[in-house]
Amino acid sequence: MTIRELLRQGRDRLTLSGVSDTVDLDTSLLLCHVLNIGREQLFARLTDPVEEDRARAFLGLTEKRAQNFPVAYLTGLKEFFGRDFFVEEGVLCPRPDTEIIVEKSLEFLEGTPSPAVLDLCSGSGCIGLTLALERPDSSVLCGDIDETPEKMFHKNREALKADNARFVRTDLFDRVEGRFNLIATNPPYLTARETADRMEEGWKEPALALDGGEDGLILVEKIVQKTIAYLAPGGYLLIEAAPDQMERILNMMGTAGFSSLGTADDLAGRERVAYGRWIG
Ligand code: GLN
Repeated sequence: MTIRELLRQGRDRLTLSGVSDTVDLDTSLLLCHVLNIGREQLFARLTDPVEEDRARAFLGLTEKRAQNFPVAYLTGLKEFFGRDFFVEEGVLCPRPDTEIIVEKSLEFLEGTPSPAVLDLCSGSGCIGLTLALERPDSSVLCGDIDETPEKMFHKNREALKADNARFVRTDLFDRVEGRFNLIATNPPYLTARETADRMEEGWKEPALALDGGEDGLILVEKIVQKTIAYLAPGGYLLIEAAPDQMERILNMMGTAGFSSLGTADDLAGRERVAYGRWIG
């Protein structure tokens, strides 16, 4: 079969499954992965024949995609802030939305030399490792409760050569020590209902990384309450969450003693990051 024929077959299978809004993109990414080439090359070689075993491998991946496995789990990689991160089942795939918390963190860290930074609920490590790489003078600690994030952190740290980042296996702040100039977190913030709905739809990302309890804010609230003990005076807390949660989070932060409260928008103009500063 040729590349063109395989693309068509993959596209038909994914369209039938109804799992993806980006059928063409998904299909081409999976075929690029199997053939180990870039997308420009793929489209320049549409009439090239594909070896039998590779064609079979591609159709196998398409089948898994049709069962709702994210493309990133199938290719093992996801781009975030211009770098490739390893991912696998057991960590959330980095989302473009999450680049906002990185951008805002970098803005807040301007003017703080050699900052200490904490990324709580680090998952793949995409936030903390990106900050470590963008600010080579920083020291970054990534913390997560689970085993796969620990493994992914080390794999990504090594591949990206982020020597200034470390990992601690911790339930929120339980095993975190020290004070930080900035704490950034993308904790689980879906409601229990939203999480259950996704699981029923066959979502393959871990419920542990998504489920924030009844109103989605159980972990957020704990983080807000505990953070001040871990911030250096003048330090910042930034939390990714859903737009309809922003007001409640800012209220929690105000009550906990944070000032300079605000939110940062995603590209679609939705408020996705709540932040505040602890003056001390
Ligand atoms: N933004 C993610 C989603 O909607 C949720 C991430 C999270 O709970 N931290 O899939």
